[in-house]
Amino acid sequence: MAFDCDLFVIGGGSGGVRAARMAAGHGATVALAEEYRMGGTCVIRGCVPKKLMVFASAFPQAFADARAYGWPVTAGALDWPAFRTRLHAELTRLEGAYRANLERSGVRIHDCRATIEDAHTLRLADGSRVRARHILIATGGRPHVPEAWADLPVMTSNDVFLMESLPGSALVVGGGFIACEMAGILRGLGVKVTQIYRGPTILRGFDDETCRHLQDELVADGLDLRLNTDIASMQPEGGGMRVRLTDGSELVADRVLMATGRRPNTEGLGLEAIGLAPGPGGEVPVDEWSQTAVPSVYAVGDVTDRVNLTPVAIREGHAFADTVFGGRPVRPEHDLVAAAVFTRPELATVGLSEEAARAREAVDIYATRFRPMHSAFAGRPGRAMMKLVVARASRRVLGCHIVADQAGEMIQLAAVALRMGATKEDFDRTVAVHPTMAEELVTMREPVRSE
Ligand code: NDP
Repeated sequence: MAFDCDLFVIGGGSGGVRAARMAAGHGATVALAEEYRMGGTCVIRGCVPKKLMVFASAFPQAFADARAYGWPVTAGALDWPAFRTRLHAELTRLEGAYRANLERSGVRIHDCRATIEDAHTLRLADGSRVRARHILIATGGRPHVPEAWADLPVMTSNDVFLMESLPGSALVVGGGFIACEMAGILRGLGVKVTQIYRGPTILRGFDDETCRHLQDELVADGLDLRLNTDIASMQPEGGGMRVRLTDGSELVADRVLMATGRRPNTEGLGLEAIGLAPGPGGEVPVDEWSQTAVPSVYAVGDVTDRVNLTPVAIREGHAFADTVFGGRPVRPEHDLVAAAVFTRPELATVGLSEEAARAREAVDIYATRFRPMHSAFAGRPGRAMMKLVVARASRRVLGCHIVADQAGEMIQLAAVALRMGATKEDFDRTVAVHPTMAEELVTMREPVRSE
């Protein structure tokens, strides 16, 4: 059977681009279709613009700290159009770099939508067909707005980066990564923010004590966070939105940002043409090699709804290429994946929560809360928190959880230690770097509880 290429990748995001480049590097002929902008969620409307906005939103606190340290700094309001222009110039630069790297690797780019016609055939939006030995689905995900509010003029995270002007006030709905990060960003940029979450503690699924600590810090810092409540009704009013909450209260906000989860992009992809039924959340079911039930079709990244993080998608894409085209079977690992929530302070985590570890075996918990030197000197009352979850029998550190400025930077190295199987005693005999916050990770002597 004649094929036009060895691999056709649908989707130019983190996972698809890595797979395409690695496969080409292994000598495969590769084509890739992207219907929007090269780089996908991470580069165009996720991690990258979000982190730049986190930086932008941190300045008011930095200015206040600077004054406390003796610098006579006065801050005006953010020039949003100026920032936005620079932001988009940076995204365009990165998009260009992604495209250039693909082209340099010899990948043929189709700037259009591709759908699956059969196990080896793609139909492109211009009507042409491509026959591929292998197909990789890397179409990512998109924000999900609950049906009841889908027809209202609400925003999702996609829209935040495109706002013409900053609203005076915003209601952020949800308690996950995106809701917490966006609430912090908007507050930092000068927007009056209310965040509502239907549960008792934000960031469900993370270590509970760590989440409660972050929650207390955010509230103490002035976040209007309303828990155990949801939207009861909502209607447009005078350019904004009047919202009644299930706790009986009411508020009016200029914008409502729904951060109520994401869904895999499988609609209209042609899965039914190859007899693939999406999973319960709309995801493409795959095995540990990222292979679907159709042997020639694989899928990586958020569309598979495994661990929905950019570096994981990159690993999955790379492992796929090594396995299928590099003659080196590699299974992407999904345990001990470190992650950071870029709130202020940040929450970063690797390994098991106390709850998950305790369900498995007896554990000793080491935890400390302290006022970091930098912010304490500036007169800020906030406390950092560090926590190690340790297996009683083996003494292995099963989980590390940090709430602190720069926690995301710290957790990367803790993740190396956990990956290597470090015990609490390995942490103990590691000499501290002084004076830092991270030194607390190696100076916790007695467990705060043993269960
Ligand atoms: P999450 O699944 O993390 O959070 C969704 C939130 O919305 C939860 O608090 C959920 O509540 C709530 N929710 C869901 N449905 C409803 C509803 N119908 N009504 C009210 N509330 C609802 O999704 P996100 O969109 O925040 O993030 C998606 C993924 O993107 C993350 O899981 C993460 O993997 C990735 N991401 C990673 C980032 C990082 O690494 N820094 C940053 C941003 C995203 P409940 O808990 O009760 O279900």
